[in-house]
Amino acid sequence: MSAFSLEPEQISWCAELRALAAERLRPLAEKGEPGHVNRPLVAELGRLGLLTRLFTSGALDLCLMRESLAHACTEAETALALQGLGAHPVHAHGSPAQRDRWLPAVADGTAIAAFALSEPGAGSDAAALTLRAEPDDGSGAGDEGSAALAAREDPARGAAFGTVGATAGGRRADRRPDGGAARTDREHGDGPGDPAKGGTALDARPNGPRRWLLTGEKCWISNAPEADFYTVFARTTSGAGARGVTAFLVPADRPGLTGAALEMLSPHPIGSLTFDAVPVTGDDVLGEVDRGFRVAMGTLNLFRPSVGAFAVGMAQAALDATLAHTRRRDAFGGKLKDLQAVAHQVAEMALRTDAARLMVYAAATAYDTSAPDVPLRAAMAKLLATETAQYVVDSAVQLHGARALRRGHLLEHLYREVRAPRIYEGASEVQRGIIAKELYAGPPATEDHPEHP
Ligand SMILES: Cc1cc2nc3c(=O)[nH]c(=O)nc-3n(C[C@H](O)[C@H](O)[C@H](O)COP(=O)(O)OP(=O)(O)OC[C@H]3O[C@@H](n4cnc5c(N)ncnc54)[C@H](O)[C@@H]3O)c2cc1C
Repeated sequence: MSAFSLEPEQISWCAELRALAAERLRPLAEKGEPGHVNRPLVAELGRLGLLTRLFTSGALDLCLMRESLAHACTEAETALALQGLGAHPVHAHGSPAQRDRWLPAVADGTAIAAFALSEPGAGSDAAALTLRAEPDDGSGAGDEGSAALAAREDPARGAAFGTVGATAGGRRADRRPDGGAARTDREHGDGPGDPAKGGTALDARPNGPRRWLLTGEKCWISNAPEADFYTVFARTTSGAGARGVTAFLVPADRPGLTGAALEMLSPHPIGSLTFDAVPVTGDDVLGEVDRGFRVAMGTLNLFRPSVGAFAVGMAQAALDATLAHTRRRDAFGGKLKDLQAVAHQVAEMALRTDAARLMVYAAATAYDTSAPDVPLRAAMAKLLATETAQYVVDSAVQLHGARALRRGHLLEHLYREVRAPRIYEGASEVQRGIIAKELYAGPPATEDHPEHP
């Protein structure tokens, strides 16, 4: 890509992705249960080779995928992005054993990943997280850990702990009325998690050298509680802020891990997680102990511009719908597009969408070329694109009139869908803070022109 345009192959790949989203992914999305992980959709993303690309291509390709899928199927876009968000820490910081165990299943869409950073008391201020990773030395709290480990040895007791339903075979764990998880198919030994049948064992036996027990809560975790594993950020050193956080790979069937789904304005697979002395070991650490915040921020630096790409895809869909509608809608003896106020509004929508797109591509290219200003560009791209998409979708609703607000209309869907990206992965205000910090961190500009009195 040059500074201002995509290569012809990239343009045709995007067209191909938009067609796939409309023809193959949209029908699967419509069959899914709103607000839940749609495993057939994720599996199709795997069959199309798009999930593998999460690990083999750079930030620009990620942006092109997200923008193109969002144009025709936001559900497919989101499913792809969440696989990337949850599994990128494993890809970038996992041990060979962790990578071998999980990444092939993420890439073929049989294992669902999640990224668990936010907590009820720590959202924007993620470094204030309090989920505790306490050393398990076999005494005190370790009693509970021993019970949890015993439950791991005995699946029936594991169910009594109410483990989150890991469903790598595409089946959701049924919930008992008392909140505990019923036995999953894997516990019956007929899922792909059954090594005896050649599948991948999805639960890690906690047998590493160092042991901790995780206790606390996570909130607003996409794909929870249905994911098969979680990248969990926990406090290993109290009072140390960002320097006392460790990233752990926690398989969903660890004893002591429970979760509940949350319903949002726009259906999204999301929930809360409760950790009740969940055992983890050195084998589960991603990266280094007390250096997990870097894992989180590195992941967000990659994904931030791509949230902007998602927004650009939605803005383009709204713009295209508006062009089509204003061309054909009769009004005042002509068409809506003949009214200058309407045509200028559409021009403004196109102008802002394109400006946001260029900024997203520039930020992604900066990431791919290891430019020094990645945090600045990523924040600018995410901020501009998500705010622009909100403006464009709202304008599109206005120019469509009442029909846009009818349940089931594309714009009714986009109007709800476009809101969350201004909050997650750093709210707009947080992005402004990052931009300002980066600007003032550089050397002061030389003052060629003395200030006028
Ligand atoms: C659909 C959706 C999916 C999500 N998925 C995930 C996920 O997969 N994993 C995960 O870990 N989290 C996830 N989140 C959580 C998300 O990252 C948090 O919502 C976000 O970090 C903001 O935290 P908060 O909601 O607690 O808001 P708060 O931190 O309470 O902030 C509320 C508001 O205060 C203002 N504010 C906050 N800080 C500042 C500041 N420094 N300067 C100026 N104003 C400020 C902003 O207006 C902000 O919107 C998801 C959220 C949503 C909505």
